[in-house]
Amino acid sequence: MIKQNLYDEVQGLAPLGRKICRYLFSNPELSGQEHNSAEYYRKLLKKEGFTIVDSSTLSTAFYAEYGQGKPVIAVLGEYDALPGLSQEACAEKKPVCEGGPGHGCGHNLLGSAAAVAAVALKRFLEKSGTKGTIRFYGCPEEELLCGKVKMIAEGMFEGCDAALSWHPNDGNMVHDHGYLANTSMKFFFTGKTSHAAFAPHQGRSALDAVELMSVGCNYLREHVVDRSRIHYTTDSGGFAPNIVPDHASAWYFVRAPHIQDVKEIAQRVELVAKGAAMMTQTSVRVEHGYGCCEFKDNTSFADLAYVNMVEADGPKYTQEEMDFAKSLQATLAEGVAQQANRLYGSEEPSMHMGVGDRQLWSACEMTASSDSGDVSYIIPTCLFTTACWPKGCSPHTWQASAGAGSTIGEKGSHYAAKILAGIGYDLFTKPEELAKIVHEFNDKNDNTYEPILAD
Ligand SMILES: [Zn+2]
Repeated sequence: MIKQNLYDEVQGLAPLGRKICRYLFSNPELSGQEHNSAEYYRKLLKKEGFTIVDSSTLSTAFYAEYGQGKPVIAVLGEYDALPGLSQEACAEKKPVCEGGPGHGCGHNLLGSAAAVAAVALKRFLEKSGTKGTIRFYGCPEEELLCGKVKMIAEGMFEGCDAALSWHPNDGNMVHDHGYLANTSMKFFFTGKTSHAAFAPHQGRSALDAVELMSVGCNYLREHVVDRSRIHYTTDSGGFAPNIVPDHASAWYFVRAPHIQDVKEIAQRVELVAKGAAMMTQTSVRVEHGYGCCEFKDNTSFADLAYVNMVEADGPKYTQEEMDFAKSLQATLAEGVAQQANRLYGSEEPSMHMGVGDRQLWSACEMTASSDSGDVSYIIPTCLFTTACWPKGCSPHTWQASAGAGSTIGEKGSHYAAKILAGIGYDLFTKPEELAKIVHEFNDKNDNTYEPILAD
């Protein structure tokens, strides 16, 4: 069976891919609640002849396996949605359900491409009698950056030789330096309530502590390593202005290019919190959440992904799709589209066509984070993106949700399925390619994987 037969197999699976994208888009589930989504994939893959291996700790995690012996190739699938990003597939902000969850990170497309590629590779192994095992990984809780960390801790990735990953984005490109490391911390301040006008001197405001902590962290930003990120939110700061708030909380994410930097900055953020508590005579309790590692580069693997991106035929869009992309792009902040066009080196059309320059993008970092970073610490992993929404559009926006629900997103997912299948084919049929990737992984591996686990 030659590679073209495999591409034909993926082409034949296009209707299934679209069906998956649409089902998940219409039934978005938040991180930790992806019960129906996980079940949907389990059923589908079981029907295709895969054996399901469930996680013993996470009811929403599993892997589906087909084949025998080495190599064992993993394809990473995700399916969680984001709060508040419910959106119809149209070029104006229009939630399907006001305040409801939506696929603003395109994980409906992500899991679909991974499943289609896994099914196509299963059929290839079956029809050609090629030795090897294909696994689809059903990875929940990516938006909380912890599902895969928990799955690794459970030993679910043991035996894998390489992992294939992709993510929807605004361009087609391979990422060598995919993600920043990240950690999550929640700070709960406790003060003393009082009448804010009658006896303010008797009160100690927990909200003041949250505000002073923000001020401290905003000063801290200048004195951390380049490309670090510190961001926060609060969902409790008292009930009414005339009551001094006795409780308030803040949720922080700290990101940096290396997990060690994240650990160090996180300690300094904790000191700022303690300082804020001291200034306001309140107390603070810290709750440590899960963290995730940065993405470990593997040039040989990225090169192979690039070759496959060029080899697989990219999407062709209809005029209607191009018009939709243009109107969606027009809703972005002023100058964003122009900036993206400068980056991609072309003015028109609004969708990125072709494949991003290998040299240019190998130096660029995707400054989001993903628990796929942890996978890249223990197994060689590749990462690429395909255009699923217009240039300049960022994930975690209603515009990305709109793209993820449209045929543009579905075409991006189909393209990704072809690329994943193509890379898998090369790994199964060219042992020297896999050997080169594993060799580089072993060379760079300093066995320092130390996950950040929650309290
Ligand atoms: Zn995502």
